Amino acid sequence: ENYKSVALIVGVTGIVGSSLAEVLTLEDTPGGPWKVYGVARRPRPLWFSKNPLQYIQCDVSNTEETISKLSPLTDITHIFYVSWIGSEDCDINATMFKNILYTVIPSAPNLQHICLQTGIKHYFGIFEEGSKVKPHDSPYTEDLPRLDVANFYHDLEDILYEETAKNHLTWSVHRPAMIFGFSPCSMMNIASTLCVYATICKYENKPLVYPGSKASWNCYADAVDADLIAEHEIWAAVDPKAKNQVLNCNNGDVFKWKHMWKTIAEQFGLEMVGYIEGKEQVSLAELMKDKDLVWDEIVKKHNLVPTKLKDIAAFWFADIAFCSENFLSSMNKNKELGFLGFRDSTKSFISCIDKIRAYRLFRK
Ligand code: NDP
Repeated sequence: ENYKSVALIVGVTGIVGSSLAEVLTLEDTPGGPWKVYGVARRPRPLWFSKNPLQYIQCDVSNTEETISKLSPLTDITHIFYVSWIGSEDCDINATMFKNILYTVIPSAPNLQHICLQTGIKHYFGIFEEGSKVKPHDSPYTEDLPRLDVANFYHDLEDILYEETAKNHLTWSVHRPAMIFGFSPCSMMNIASTLCVYATICKYENKPLVYPGSKASWNCYADAVDADLIAEHEIWAAVDPKAKNQVLNCNNGDVFKWKHMWKTIAEQFGLEMVGYIEGKEQVSLAELMKDKDLVWDEIVKKHNLVPTKLKDIAAFWFADIAFCSENFLSSMNKNKELGFLGFRDSTKSFISCIDKIRAYRLFRK
């Protein structure tokens, strides 16, 4: 068939990978028509069965496996790297990215551009305990220097810069804010995590209690819709103005958890209890640690698509969101370069809930 561009999405079942797969296979997507290859370790999930892409099951931390499965894909023109190993280990994350580049660059003579997704952790440091680095002051702009802390984002960027320079390819680095998306195969999905929490509250006839800090309840926050990141990465892949640029990515608005909490409670028909003066943050990970069987019961009772609590909810990630403040990033550079995409964050969160329900991962 006559394709104009050929994408390799690494991490195709993830929160952004699955949006990329959807957007790239639409008829009117810039740079198209696109042929799409998508890579992840697990077998192709049922919820992902309708997408016309070519699904390749491959563990890209394994060098031999990557070479044997990806070197035959000689028609790739664009790489979208939207994956991580699920820990902040610099070596494994770097190995995964190197395996991709060292395999695809020599075997795909028409390769043009590589999109690398990192995130705003670039500006405030890593999640793992012991990171005592002083964060940059927000709003974050792309030109802020690296923090003095080991961060796998630095390793990935360095690999990207070196390989693209050597091989005369173009690149873009994308630094999204917290992502609102749908994927049940994501290691950090705040929307599905909060939907699980709300579903369990409902099952146990309890109100939706805000577990976070006072600061996180009251402050402005930003987020980015997974579909908007997909549009952003595709724009960077095809528009000359975005070549060789580091770019933040958020919805272009701000929200407050105190308002979003009301929206979530309404969506699930729950009473809500907001932040109560004087209350310390309660860990959701701690609160939910014995709920695996409750989740199994809910899945059975409501005939939902079978999922495991640990796969679709990252309570540790919500704990981080609910003790954070002032993580805002600037979209000015994007606007100057011509990217004007945006989403309404409340509508974006609701659309995630709707999609998660439509796939029968949650009850109404
Ligand atoms: P997800 O956790 O949503 O998805 C990861 C994808 O990679 C899945 O498809 C997973 O499938 C696949 N994968 C993981 N390990 C391997 C492997 N060894 N071989 C092949 N495929 C693999 O990713 P995110 O989009 O969240 O993360 C990408 C980047 O975005 C990270 O650097 C993250 O820090 C950053 N980011 C994420 C945010 C968020 O809210 N989620 C916010 C801001 C930045 P499988 O498990 O089947 O292999």
